[in-house]
Amino acid sequence: MIQATISGEREVGFVELPDPEPQPGWALVKVHASALCTEYKAYLQGLTMDTPGHEGAGEVVAVGDDQGPVDVGDRVVILPQYPCGACDLCLSGDYVYCENNQDFAAVNGSNNGKGTFAHYTLKPGWLLPKIPEGVTYAQATMAIDGVGASFGGFQAIGMDSRDTVLITGLGPVGLGAVVNARFRNARVIGVEPAPWRANRALEMGAEVVLDPDDPEILSTIRSMTGGRGVDCAVDCSGVPSSERLCIDATRRRGRVAFVGESKSDLAIQVSRDMIRKGLTIKGSWLYNRTDYAGVMRVIQESPLIDLLISHEMPMSRIGDAFEVLGKGEAAKIVVNPWE
Ligand SMILES: [Zn+2]
Ligand SMILES: [Zn+2]
Repeated sequence: MIQATISGEREVGFVELPDPEPQPGWALVKVHASALCTEYKAYLQGLTMDTPGHEGAGEVVAVGDDQGPVDVGDRVVILPQYPCGACDLCLSGDYVYCENNQDFAAVNGSNNGKGTFAHYTLKPGWLLPKIPEGVTYAQATMAIDGVGASFGGFQAIGMDSRDTVLITGLGPVGLGAVVNARFRNARVIGVEPAPWRANRALEMGAEVVLDPDDPEILSTIRSMTGGRGVDCAVDCSGVPSSERLCIDATRRRGRVAFVGESKSDLAIQVSRDMIRKGLTIKGSWLYNRTDYAGVMRVIQESPLIDLLISHEMPMSRIGDAFEVLGKGEAAKIVVNPWE
């Protein structure tokens, strides 16, 4: 099989490897679609990756003994990580927080089959939920970070149609948040400096997209919300100034979810920011496994999914895909490993 790699600064490779074989409890998936995430940062910085890709969808082509709930021929979403499947977090659906992740190479003998920018990938069978009929493989990949990440954040803070929601950072995850917010009929105020992304959010139904560098941004948001502030906010940027804006622009007794990651060192003042405001602040990584059907419903029914998938490209052009993403001129990019 072929696995795409990041082999240096702005360099990709295509390595020929033996087809992996599934261990007991695991399945081999033929990857038909894989969505790009943060790998482009490694590509731009020259950090090599041998098995990139973690957002895939495909068809089960082989199963090990004790394969769990999957069978050959199933069309499936490939959920991330290699959680143990046995701890309280895994059993409650919060597998993404598992503290006993399996060592992929120890289980499978090597890292061959770890990435989804590849013809085939290996995964424990219980992390391969089925794709409903009528949903394409490319659309199904949105069930990971595209739609899934902000879905989990909005579940954590109970965002619904009564809310005005501030979404900071309108990259692939933030644009997914616009999809989720519009699906829930919430009013959306976006914050994003890149023109392509701002325009895409407006196309999706954001009422306005503000520039994070505008010194008047806080007063503008307050004046749009009767002087009180937004009901809730989700940060998808991981940028400390935007995380701060989420806290400051949210009304008293409002809710904030942090979804975007970086090496943020945001200082939170417990008294001023939380106690005296009665603010709820939650961190959220992906979503509970039991919310898969809800995430898939957004993918099936939202008219905005095709705007969230801005590019479908052959994997042979994955270098071009990283370039477009790095320029901030894409939402989710999906590659086909077989082209
Ligand atoms: Zn991702
Ligand atoms: Zn676990």
